Amino acid sequence: MTFGGNKKKCPGFIAVAIDGPAGAGKSTVAKRLAQRLGFAFLDTGAMYRALTLKAMRLGLKLEDELALTALAQNTKIDLEDKGEGLIVSLDGEDVSQNIRTVEVTNNTFYIARVSGVRAILVRWQQEIGACRNVVAEGRDIGTVVFPRTKYKFYLDADVEERAKRRHAELTAKGKPIDFEEVLKDVRDRDHKDFTRKVGPLKKAEDAVVIDSTKMTVEEVIDTLCKHIIGETKDKMTKDKI
Ligand code: C5P
Repeated sequence: MTFGGNKKKCPGFIAVAIDGPAGAGKSTVAKRLAQRLGFAFLDTGAMYRALTLKAMRLGLKLEDELALTALAQNTKIDLEDKGEGLIVSLDGEDVSQNIRTVEVTNNTFYIARVSGVRAILVRWQQEIGACRNVVAEGRDIGTVVFPRTKYKFYLDADVEERAKRRHAELTAKGKPIDFEEVLKDVRDRDHKDFTRKVGPLKKAEDAVVIDSTKMTVEEVIDTLCKHIIGETKDKMTKDKI
């Protein structure tokens, strides 16, 4: 399915919001949960990453908030969930791999702190959720993007465990890196995510907290499903999802 450019508002769709720090397993869990529920998977981090990549390619000053906001206004980002992987298109170009580099990861901080950029990206995300059932993951989904949804989760894990997962992921990709360096990066990203003035990572008051430190992906998904299915069963039957 392709997102982007669809401005029609249709009432009655469900948004499952999953927030949490980097490395807590949000993407894997949200993607598989979406498949299980037959919902669209909305990876909001991919949008911040795609815009970061464009700013870097254009050589924009990443401190220039006005330029970054103008860039967001003149950019088209599409997310297409083909089942085997999310395709992220930046102005029509497939950048699914390019947005996952260490350089882009480190620079998203500059984009994510700009209020003008966030306002634009949040609006796109809300438009996507207005016309389909979504499982959305990010940092501000339950607090800013879909604050009225009943299905809010905060997925957490110990920082060492999150760094271990990230380290294993990078090693598996053939990018050997010192564990201490990964741990420092994860701590650094946490600090930036928690302390930014606009859209900081924050647990919504009514979010269900799940600590995935000692849980498998399947266990986390089962826990989420138990919370969601019970509440959505009647509605899902009614909407023939
Ligand atoms: O989740 P992911 O690591 O792909 O996110 C990339 C960056 O985008 C993060 O560092 C985070 O700060 C930012 N982000 C955000 N708000 C979101 C999703 C991601 O600020 N809703």
